[in-house]
Amino acid sequence: MPSDFDYCAELIFSWEFGGSPDWVVDKLPSPGPTVKLLGPYTEGDRTEVARIMDEINELITPVQMRFATESDFTTLEIIFITQERFVIWNLSPDFEGWYAGKASQDDVAAMILINSELRGTTRKGVILHEMTHALGLYGHSDKYSDGVLSYKWDTITEFSDRDRECIRFLYHPSITVGMTEDEVRSLIHHLP
Ligand SMILES: [Zn+2]
Repeated sequence: MPSDFDYCAELIFSWEFGGSPDWVVDKLPSPGPTVKLLGPYTEGDRTEVARIMDEINELITPVQMRFATESDFTTLEIIFITQERFVIWNLSPDFEGWYAGKASQDDVAAMILINSELRGTTRKGVILHEMTHALGLYGHSDKYSDGVLSYKWDTITEFSDRDRECIRFLYHPSITVGMTEDEVRSLIHHLP
């Protein structure tokens, strides 16, 4: 049971453009996505993605994210594109990153776009933010400024303890894909 359920609910039951009364739980299946990096990424990006996957794998066993091998079907593509190419995807050119997909759907690759012109902390922050969306936390919250899904997201390169709580909560075995917020709310007092 997370210390602030309402905060977690904001992240779980909404998406980039606000909540919907029909919004339901979505989360990754086990063993988890096979990840491929595409576009002009650097060794540093690969190291950062590997580090984030390690932390996620530890947080939400039995999900095991890993890089796709040659023979794998890729289920999560992380594509680095130049800023101007965001327009080709019908996204505003001032976007730093984007997630498109559905965590529970593993027969079509979900997609993360990262602006390849970003540098340093901003680049790392954007990678972490979009990878957090890929877990099924599609919303944002400005309730805590250290949250990876807060408005300061592009300066935050680590999950806050509250973020970790929400991720673990979403992946509790009693919380299943398709549950409504009311259904989850009615469960929380019965969870450890
Ligand atoms: Zn976002």
